[in-house]
Amino acid sequence: GQVLLTGGTGFIASHILDRLLDHGYDVVTTVRSEEKGQRLLQSIDETLAGRVSYAVIPDIGQEGVWDDVFKKHQQLTGVIHTASPCKTSGFTDPVKDCLGPAINGTTGILKSIHAHSSSVKRVVITSSSAAILSPPNHRQIYDESCWSDITWEQGIASKKDDTYRASKKFAERAAWDFMAAHSPSFSLATINNTFTFGPLPRSLPKGQSLSSINDSNQRILDMVQGRMRDGIRPTAPVFTFVDVRDVALAHLRAMERKDAGGKRFYVVGGYFSNAQVASIIRDKFPELNRMLPESGQWEDDFPKNHWRFDNSRSKEVLSIQYQGLEASVVDTVLSILEYEK
Ligand code: NDP
Repeated sequence: GQVLLTGGTGFIASHILDRLLDHGYDVVTTVRSEEKGQRLLQSIDETLAGRVSYAVIPDIGQEGVWDDVFKKHQQLTGVIHTASPCKTSGFTDPVKDCLGPAINGTTGILKSIHAHSSSVKRVVITSSSAAILSPPNHRQIYDESCWSDITWEQGIASKKDDTYRASKKFAERAAWDFMAAHSPSFSLATINNTFTFGPLPRSLPKGQSLSSINDSNQRILDMVQGRMRDGIRPTAPVFTFVDVRDVALAHLRAMERKDAGGKRFYVVGGYFSNAQVASIIRDKFPELNRMLPESGQWEDDFPKNHWRFDNSRSKEVLSIQYQGLEASVVDTVLSILEYEK
């Protein structure tokens, strides 16, 4: 089969691409420039390169940008939509730069599939645990029945984290609303993953000094590069993580499995705190000790009576066996060190 993977150069998408290729799919990706498309192709093993192509879509927030892709590729059976224009920083106008494009980027692709494709059977959208959790008024236990209580007004107020959270909630809501309103011939599943750790995408330019990577891995990068030498930063507000390879497999299976249709999946592997991550790095990479505060100099800020998560749907329907924190942190550090060589 043939699958469309949006945001192909992204962290999570790069792992999804690997899984899709392992499982024999041909993949059309979307990237934001020719240059990024070429870099992506060059990062793929030669023997697989013929199975990957790309389309350039510089901004998914614009109207009608998907139509040519679906008109051209009439064999696509699945779509995995990871691209998301909104981050927790780097924008000025919350509605114009973040909420609007996030919602349009999601409804736009659904509209276009509905109008131009009769082959697509399943669409999987990368939402986020941000669409589930309601900090600071946490529930005792979260599962897929939960929706974040964040409001549009909070989303457009000045806090960028809130804007990001609102973008994920309202974009996912808009997707389910689209499905209810139009009953298209494809079904939808969403992956609501929490803070995601794991190896960096192969298509990042090598040999550069990385200064920023995605928000979740950033804490690990900062520890490796000595930016927490004077003290481990507080972990709050989220103390759950998942490994990117589990997130990738969840996307693949949510696309393949019949009973995944119409479902959200809360994809969370376990708890963590920055102090625990630092302890793993200290134990497993003695050569990095000089980048961390002196031994015994940090306290674990993991809260007493932390809320719980129920990830049983992802285990039952998608058969995910979650990786532990140590393996995830170790592989992330190895990947950072490899880039900086
Ligand atoms: P990345 O930043 O690595 O990937 C995001 C991708 O979206 C990139 O390929 C980026 O392209 C692309 N993109 C951004 N803005 C636009 C735009 N306006 N038009 C077209 N493409 C755009 O992030 P992740 O891999 O971490 O995130 C992937 C998805 O997972 C997102 O939806 C994110 O919200 C979600 N998520 C991530 C979590 C995490 O911990 N990492 C946790 C929960 C959810 P380019 O790089 O060229 O700008």
